[in-house]
Amino acid sequence: MKFNVITIFPKIISDYCDETILARAQKNNLIKINPVDLRDFTTDNHKTVDDTPYGGGAGMVMKVEPIFKALKSLEAIPFSKADGLSKIKKIFTGEIKKKKKTILLSPRGKQFDERLAEQLAKYQELTFVCGRYEGVDQRVTDYLIDEEISVGPYVLAGGELGALIIIEAVSRLIPGVLGNEESLKEETFGSKLSLREAPKGDEAIPMQKEYAQYTKPDDFNGWKVPDVLLSGNHAEIRKWRKG
Ligand code: SAH
Repeated sequence: MKFNVITIFPKIISDYCDETILARAQKNNLIKINPVDLRDFTTDNHKTVDDTPYGGGAGMVMKVEPIFKALKSLEAIPFSKADGLSKIKKIFTGEIKKKKKTILLSPRGKQFDERLAEQLAKYQELTFVCGRYEGVDQRVTDYLIDEEISVGPYVLAGGELGALIIIEAVSRLIPGVLGNEESLKEETFGSKLSLREAPKGDEAIPMQKEYAQYTKPDDFNGWKVPDVLLSGNHAEIRKWRKG
């Protein structure tokens, strides 16, 4: 699976993805991370990616042209939004859209969660556009991307952390990326489980929380591991873990 990340800080993406499981997954050719420097798609000497907002207001807005050029170079503009859509292209649109998706990180977007990670893991290529400053020219949303995604109900200074969150959550679901596939089965939020009802006042999505885990020693400072886990009785252990 390939992840393109359009950003003015490509090093943030490569530094993070070149460590831990994402580094191993890249080495094993299970994923490919492609940080794309937005400034490479500017035409002026200052490599300008932002400008003042029409109608006034605080801060700067990211320009549409460099993002358009970057997405075009990646062939990541959804056909449904590209102009001059031919009949033939239309026939293939459904198929192509299934394989590729272009996402703008945005606090206004659809809330990212494990269900969305599972859906995104089915694509062959995801392209992220990371905003900065006051945000991104609306025409990016209207003409150039498939979906806006938010990583949480708060405002960050840029889309890079959001892209990394999505890349990591999606990559773990790709067969072979985790050392031990078994760990996916019983995990918090995993949809393969019989879902327990979410506690009142919690998020509306059905969720399962993983059971508590312990490792050696069995007694630290008098803080003991539950006896059942030391019993070797697997039926009892399963029962305890179900809660
Ligand atoms: N003025 C905007 C916020 C801009 S923050 C507003 O009020 O909506 C700058 C950039 O950070 C955004 O363009 C987006 O790419 C990223 N960003 C901020 N918060 C985010 C969030 N919760 N999820 C995903 N991306 C976010």
